[in-house]
Amino acid sequence: VMTLQLDQASTTQLREWETTLAQEYQQFKASGLNLDLTRGKPSAEQLDLSDAMNLILGDDLSNESNTDLRNYGGLDGIPECKRLFAKVLGVANDEILIGGNSSLTLMYFAVLFAQNQGFGALGASWASEGKTTKFLAPVPGYDRHFSVCEHLGIELIPVALNDDGPDMDAVEQLVKADPSIKGIWCVPRFSNPTGTVYSDQVVDRLAQLGKLAGSNFRVFWDNAYAVHSLSDDAPELANIMDRCRAHGTEDSIYIFGSTSKITYAGAGVSFAGMSKGNLKAFSQHLGMSQIGPDKINQLRHVRFLKDSEGLAAHMRAHAAVLKPRFDIVLKHLREGLADTGMASWNEPQGGYFVSFDTLPGLAKEVVQLAADAGVKLTPAGATFPYGKDPDNKNIRIAPSVPSLEEIDRAMAVFVNCVKLASVRQRLS
Ligand code: PMP
Repeated sequence: VMTLQLDQASTTQLREWETTLAQEYQQFKASGLNLDLTRGKPSAEQLDLSDAMNLILGDDLSNESNTDLRNYGGLDGIPECKRLFAKVLGVANDEILIGGNSSLTLMYFAVLFAQNQGFGALGASWASEGKTTKFLAPVPGYDRHFSVCEHLGIELIPVALNDDGPDMDAVEQLVKADPSIKGIWCVPRFSNPTGTVYSDQVVDRLAQLGKLAGSNFRVFWDNAYAVHSLSDDAPELANIMDRCRAHGTEDSIYIFGSTSKITYAGAGVSFAGMSKGNLKAFSQHLGMSQIGPDKINQLRHVRFLKDSEGLAAHMRAHAAVLKPRFDIVLKHLREGLADTGMASWNEPQGGYFVSFDTLPGLAKEVVQLAADAGVKLTPAGATFPYGKDPDNKNIRIAPSVPSLEEIDRAMAVFVNCVKLASVRQRLS
């Protein structure tokens, strides 16, 4: 094993390294690998953890609403499900709606309704202002947030995501200067892909944006990984609804979450937390698209997860499956790339991703090299609006699905590709 230090190597040394690395790369290529580090979804082993949910209802559909859950109705969800997930989102029991199987759908609808229909008594539609609606996008971020906006004709303005959350000086300046900025995407705990947990101070400043921004501004608070810590000492997140209440801005926030990475990613439940005024407007619009959600699924989630303690225990079982996978990724990165001057990465305490930065200009080449050697990575650029990473350096590594052995092999290839691309860049 060589420890390369890129900026201290002579040209002769770099050439030697290039030869050795290229030989190693050819061996990987010849070994016919077919590995995939692209998917931010639970492994079968994790999905198995929730299989008891399938039979848990039996023929007992009794529930607190005393309605027939097999029938239409209950657009906002059943009370016991609201109670369970209101705690996750940090809102009151009457500030939550339980939806279908996807929080992304709720987010898409929220943006759509705000753009085209407005918030009822809380304000007119963004479109009625006659200007292109804009959203702030902390980067790197979640590509599907960006594509919601792209699909609805909303322009995305990137802002830096720092170690403690979005660059709030930049965010505040932008929203003050441009009233057509109507929203900001936030994944506040274990963000996708950087694993960032927003600091209390950043949460408080986001809670105050409603006062700084023009009319009808909303923070889209996608707390998708709210309870998805990898260890018991992972940092907590401040309660944004409480902060908003303190500042009188509770109408400026939409909170989202789901059990996609708690129970089943295709058959979970989603939830939205918002002020009563927002909830009323949102529900009225939502009621135009459906009569009600799958309440039987909601009930089996409550029977299975029970309460906050039950949920926490279940998430520890997920962590037991996930943590060793992250450990292998980080071991390869530390052993192969620490102190080489070739890369930097985060060491997440929760969520689903490791965010990795190559030297500027190399992400696409590394992804391509890895692909040619049989290791699939998320396309470079995917973590930026319009797929454009201005520095071409960010790569999202998703280790949840492959086996430990597969991750081990894939990461050996990945590290080789990073070194090879870095040495070649230095030589060129
Ligand atoms: N938000 C974030 C930040 C995510 O990473 C994901 C899943 N990759 C989602 C939302 C999708 O959530 P759902 O399955 O509830 O639509």
